[in-house]
Amino acid sequence: MDVEVQYNVRLEKFTTFRLGGYCRGVFMCQTPAQLVKVVKRFHQTQVPFILIGGGSNLLVSDQGVDCFVIRYMSDQPEIVGNGHDLIVSGSTQLDHLVLAAIQRGLEGLNFASGIPGTVGGAVVGNAGAFGKQVGDVVKSVTLLTRSGLQKDVPSRELKFSYRNSILKSTGDIVLSVEFSLHPSDKMNLNTERNGILEARRQKHPDLVITPCAGSFFRNIEPTSLAQRRQAAGWFLEQAGGKALRVGGACIFDKHANIIIKENGACAQDVFALSELMAGLVKEKFNLELIREVRLVGKFKGMPEDIQDILW
Ligand SMILES: Cc1cc2nc3c(=O)[nH]c(=O)nc-3n(C[C@H](O)[C@H](O)[C@H](O)COP(=O)(O)OP(=O)(O)OC[C@H]3O[C@@H](n4cnc5c(N)ncnc54)[C@H](O)[C@@H]3O)c2cc1C
Repeated sequence: MDVEVQYNVRLEKFTTFRLGGYCRGVFMCQTPAQLVKVVKRFHQTQVPFILIGGGSNLLVSDQGVDCFVIRYMSDQPEIVGNGHDLIVSGSTQLDHLVLAAIQRGLEGLNFASGIPGTVGGAVVGNAGAFGKQVGDVVKSVTLLTRSGLQKDVPSRELKFSYRNSILKSTGDIVLSVEFSLHPSDKMNLNTERNGILEARRQKHPDLVITPCAGSFFRNIEPTSLAQRRQAAGWFLEQAGGKALRVGGACIFDKHANIIIKENGACAQDVFALSELMAGLVKEKFNLELIREVRLVGKFKGMPEDIQDILW
């Protein structure tokens, strides 16, 4: 199957915030074979690119980016069973994988019910909920380097930690993932999933009508081993952050750590609002909030030495 390409397109079409300016073009790769082909061609011709999945953890600047974008996400899950293990393309949507695991009576991924985005994005950022994270059930991954070489890597080498893995700094691409699951009762798994989806509906925006990228900041790391990680949303709420607004960017009324896009909002509004939120928590609690959402492109007021941006 040929790879669909859209040239000179706005990235707002590919992010859940529905924000982001133009890029040179988006290559829509759905399968590992397509991805390998495109990455090798970019490497040979030295064409600069960034890779995204579902765009559910990104804030792309209004100016966009002067490079190509590979979008590695598929409508159809690509999953092969191997006993209690599942081998899944990085382009498979995480929630499709959760459903497939339930249909096979396999437990281990149910906590991820309803988390948007792809398996690749979830592995890179060690996505999690309810105290569990994707890295807990990863057995190994097949990585694709930016020069087009493939390598199989066991889970321990990915150095999973809270919302993090070594892949954020290496830039290697998650081509496919082997998950190690265990057998369980399908009915119980389904009931648990429905409960999780309901709980998420209560506290997260409905992406169809309310664009966002989930929690904007990471939760606060415990200051000693005895303490639990504390929700960034709690500090924001206590500091009065819910009342903040910049242009069309404001805070979701049920969750102080979620910025939502209202009519007329631009990416710069969201960035400026996030700076106000972080400033408020610094002022009231002397705590530094760390962004969970990844920035793509340039924003006014962004420090010169900013770390962890995608382009
Ligand atoms: C309503 C809502 C609720 C959310 N709830 C949660 C939650 O409960 N828990 C949670 O952890 N997150 C949550 N998120 C955030 C987001 O869904 C996750 O971070 C998700 O795993 C991102 O996956 P993605 O495919 O959309 O990645 P993208 O946003 O497209 O990219 C994120 C990063 O991953 C990289 N990346 C993507 N795919 C690959 C790949 N195949 N190989 C290498 N790098 C890759 C990108 O380069 C980028 O650096 C939520 C977001 C929304 C909008």
